[in-house]
Amino acid sequence: MNAAAPGIPELRYIKGVGPKRALLFQKMGIHTVRDLLYLFPRRYEDRSHFATLNGLPPEEPITCRGEVLDVKFKPIRGMPLVEVLIGDPTGTLKVVFFNRPYLRKQFSAGQEVIVYGKVEPYKNDLQMSNPEFEIVADPEAATVHTGRITPIYPLTEGLFQRSLRSLLKETVDHHLADHITDYLSPELRQSLDLVPLDRALRQMHLPDSLEEQARARRRIVFDEFFSFELQLFLRIKAIKIKYQSPAFKIAPELLEEFKRSLPFQLTRSQEQALQDLRNDLNQTAPMNRLLQGDVGSGKTVVAAFAFLAAQRAGSQSAFLVPTEILAEQHYRTLVKFLQPLKVDVELLTKSTEADRRGRLIAALRQGKPMVVAGTHAILQEEVQFSSLGLVATDEQHKFGVHQRNQLLQRKPRPHQLVMTATPIPRTLAMTVFADLDISLMKELPKGRQPISTYWITRKKQPEIFEHMAVRLRKGEQAYVVFPIIEETEKSDLLAAKKEYERLRKFVFPQFKLGLVHGKIDREAREAVMRAFTRREIDILVATSVIEVGVDQPHATMMIIENAERFGLAQLHQLRGRVGRGPVGSECFLFGEPSTDEGKMRLRLLTKLQDGFQIADEDLKLRGQGDLWGTRQSGEPFFRVAHPVLDAELFTLARSEAQKLTGSVRDATLGKIPAWVQKYLEQMPKTD
Ligand code: ADP
Ligand code: MG
Repeated sequence: MNAAAPGIPELRYIKGVGPKRALLFQKMGIHTVRDLLYLFPRRYEDRSHFATLNGLPPEEPITCRGEVLDVKFKPIRGMPLVEVLIGDPTGTLKVVFFNRPYLRKQFSAGQEVIVYGKVEPYKNDLQMSNPEFEIVADPEAATVHTGRITPIYPLTEGLFQRSLRSLLKETVDHHLADHITDYLSPELRQSLDLVPLDRALRQMHLPDSLEEQARARRRIVFDEFFSFELQLFLRIKAIKIKYQSPAFKIAPELLEEFKRSLPFQLTRSQEQALQDLRNDLNQTAPMNRLLQGDVGSGKTVVAAFAFLAAQRAGSQSAFLVPTEILAEQHYRTLVKFLQPLKVDVELLTKSTEADRRGRLIAALRQGKPMVVAGTHAILQEEVQFSSLGLVATDEQHKFGVHQRNQLLQRKPRPHQLVMTATPIPRTLAMTVFADLDISLMKELPKGRQPISTYWITRKKQPEIFEHMAVRLRKGEQAYVVFPIIEETEKSDLLAAKKEYERLRKFVFPQFKLGLVHGKIDREAREAVMRAFTRREIDILVATSVIEVGVDQPHATMMIIENAERFGLAQLHQLRGRVGRGPVGSECFLFGEPSTDEGKMRLRLLTKLQDGFQIADEDLKLRGQGDLWGTRQSGEPFFRVAHPVLDAELFTLARSEAQKLTGSVRDATLGKIPAWVQKYLEQMPKTD
């Protein structure tokens, strides 16, 4: 019943697992029978329908059943070849095995066999090479490898499909019952339409039908989400109960005052986000909120309100921003929005002059309420906030968790607001940013124009350049983006450096061009970016370093070279650099993807504008493997569940977990039943 102590692999008591195999499993992180039962097939092959031997369709996998009529051993050119002739009442089929001489002893005339593979034409006849096969000793007995919906397992070196499959059958048949307890009560299962755990595990490995497998999967997915959410809520509660933040006691009129001072009307998404913030900031339980909104959705204004609330409560705020340019931009925005409301806004970066910096640091020490927008410079030791009430981080993915937390490790703990434009789907966001409450801003401010996006062949490039020149002459600006900085011998990708020279000298000699990429040091890079925002440069040639940052409404055109080299999300982020002003913008994708998936990506981008929709599609194309290229350590990994495709189950599991722990917001813990602990202990560890 109990988990094996480390070093005493419980697995060795299963028939067919010796010390050697136990070691292999250990390397895969499989230590117990339970671990083994949660090693699920990668996929299934339906080998349950037998084709008759007359008229077999070539080139598609089929399963046939027949009697062995003859076995021959015929080495050809030194290669051992075993040839088995099988027959059924309709015909015969030649089955050949290369390089497996021992098989001639396994087959003998009169045996009943099942084979699974593709038939191919060979010398006026059809034959099947190296099929999966099974010798049916007892026609009544259940088959494992063929003649059924067959599981295909992920393998590791030294483990083979057939033996792993047999081993799992043995485990399911003889060990499952002793090692698994279903802690979900029959009532709960019934109300959620979930099958019992033992049945689910059995049907995951050896499904009786695809419907049964689907029901089994539903149960397993639910368990993955449910245990994940339970643990998460328990952790959030622990923080809320343990730490206290200053409650800002926001005056009811403050929100109205703020809105009146703005030059535009807030979107509904922004209004909702402000309500969320107000609720959070009025409590002593630390706020832990993610503000998630597509590029240009207007997150900064929302953050501005939180800073205002902090100031009125006599607290300091830190606004952590990844680049100097962005810090300056935010500083200007905050001054514009907040100074009229008597909020003291300051900027702190590496470029801040020494005496200004000195005065700022002194004021912070003395506890003067203010907002400091800045880069990593804020995190330096000398900068001591003595009454920090709020930490906001923009473009959170540019910071490590450690950096973000640096400002949170104090007493009282400041409220936290995290902002991101990465439009990952909501359910996925709930897992990636699991311990954050989420305010989602789906709406863009009125009057935004869609970015016309085209995927075109390189032959048309001269025309595009001419078209761009016309717009450039009107004072508009453009980006030209490359996947790499320098050419290498191995690849034929266009590189930023070389193309910059070509564009400057031959294509756009009458315009000013600038170049930015990751190998140019930060100060020089920011100088170029700044020149671009001041419109001293017409065309910015760049690598993906421009993904984050500049808000330049005059930039209306973008060319992306070798677009097939970028992920869909990245393309969307890049494209988001244009379309920020009143003039319609265009994005031209040059690229020749070699795969269908690659073509699909570029086509999707020409059709879709909404980052969330793009994110959904991207996830469907790519699976969970490398989400948005943003897989961070500590990000949850589900064995079976898919956070987007299984969104419905995710919601169900989340609400069940919430029922047990109480609402996420309040800092109290529901009464946790004893079975929950046991349930969580039994779940295999995911990491
Ligand atoms: P992001 O969410 O990408 O950080 P910003 O906060 O930089 O977006 O906002 C983009 C631009 O939209 C800014 O110039 C901002 O002043 C403007 N903006 C924000 N909210 C609105 C609104 N409700 N109506 C009109 N313009 C808005
Ligand atoms: Mg922003």
